Amino acid sequence: MQSLFWHGPNLNPIDDEDPTTGVIKYEGEYLPKYYNQFFNPNICHVCKSVIDHGKLLQCEECHIISYCDENHKNIHHTQHNSICKLIKELVVKLVNEKKISKSYAFLGDWIRDKKMFKTEIKRKISRKLMPYENQMFMSIKSCLICHGRVGLSACENCYSVNYCTRHSLAFKDTHDKFICKKFTLSLNVNIAALTDRPTELIRDFIAFLDKKPRLLDTFRLIMTFLWSSRTQLNWSIADYVLSDYLSGPLTIYYGITRTDSPHIIDKQSNFNIHIICTNSINNNSLAAWEVLLHLFHDVDTLVITIIGQGIIPNEYKYEICELCKRFQLSLNLKPTWFQTVKAIETQYCPLFLTSPNLFKGQDTIRKIRIILNKNINPDLELKNEFHSHAPSKDYETDYINYSNKYLIIYKDLSKVNNICKRYPGYYK
Ligand SMILES: [Zn+2]
Ligand SMILES: [Zn+2]
Ligand SMILES: [Zn+2]
Ligand SMILES: [Zn+2]
Repeated sequence: MQSLFWHGPNLNPIDDEDPTTGVIKYEGEYLPKYYNQFFNPNICHVCKSVIDHGKLLQCEECHIISYCDENHKNIHHTQHNSICKLIKELVVKLVNEKKISKSYAFLGDWIRDKKMFKTEIKRKISRKLMPYENQMFMSIKSCLICHGRVGLSACENCYSVNYCTRHSLAFKDTHDKFICKKFTLSLNVNIAALTDRPTELIRDFIAFLDKKPRLLDTFRLIMTFLWSSRTQLNWSIADYVLSDYLSGPLTIYYGITRTDSPHIIDKQSNFNIHIICTNSINNNSLAAWEVLLHLFHDVDTLVITIIGQGIIPNEYKYEICELCKRFQLSLNLKPTWFQTVKAIETQYCPLFLTSPNLFKGQDTIRKIRIILNKNINPDLELKNEFHSHAPSKDYETDYINYSNKYLIIYKDLSKVNNICKRYPGYYK
């Protein structure tokens, strides 16, 4: 009989490592709903293969996206064509006007120009950009050292950073092994998430939750899950994906237990959650929200509404468990972040915000003050024990992020609260 309480060695999640040595192979079908979920400039956009760098076929119009051969380039042609033309026109215009530099002394200048580029394209294109197209601009290939765009090679381990011919030595000193491993894991997580079938693992996890394990943090929870279901405790790539999906609902659970407002749940037989996405959301991750019904047993109906402009509402099919015919899901693509915050102000309902780093969190707090035009502070700011363990590359810092790392809670946006409780260790 195995205990459901984690009493193994006190492993530090920071030591978690990619269980593979290189980039995994994508085994699924070559359909837009899969390959268009993410972008990496150093792999074939369609089959996600890493191939010898010199042999990768770059689109000769926009010079941003690459394929392994003409065949895979043609598969993507109809989806890429419109944006490709606009990019080409814009580059010609900016070069003529001498508005883009060949290289940049400061990362900040390079980021500013990438953002300007993205904004220009957004203005010109007659449709919404897909999340992977947004990523195209932020992850335009450039040398890690000088940010130049000529004569580039990619790191042959992580395929997530590049260097120019002049900086191959400096690159070796700058791009350390730790970051390289995290970037590789990040790419692997993205590839592993290109599937319609994550639900089996989520099902198993939900069955495990019903045994009422202690909820300490994402890491120990998944370790306990592995402990109860497998012979070995090493995480597979799928476990990192799982930690990412579970992080959303577990963060809500954590936030509710940390605010002294359990009434949010008690008094409501219908539990409505609006998830506001500022960027993309993986359709597969939606299945994980059923977790909340297995944590809050008194809730009659859980209604999840996804609000945001970065979601692709492709056919959502998910078999929920027999006990949970109480789960409803809807998408609302229209409102903007501004409209949503204004709407929350008029209702007595808490707002939970998460951010991958302190800087972005503080930035959001500032934005909320501007939108509501009052000096409002959050009631709580804390490190989130239920953040994701899947790393992702931060294109503004060339470092790594974990989503939902920090949690900011406003109990009621209609009141002005001056005292913000910061949990110890927040700034560590
Ligand atoms: Zn390919
Ligand atoms: Zn192109
Ligand atoms: Zn360089
Ligand atoms: Zn690397």
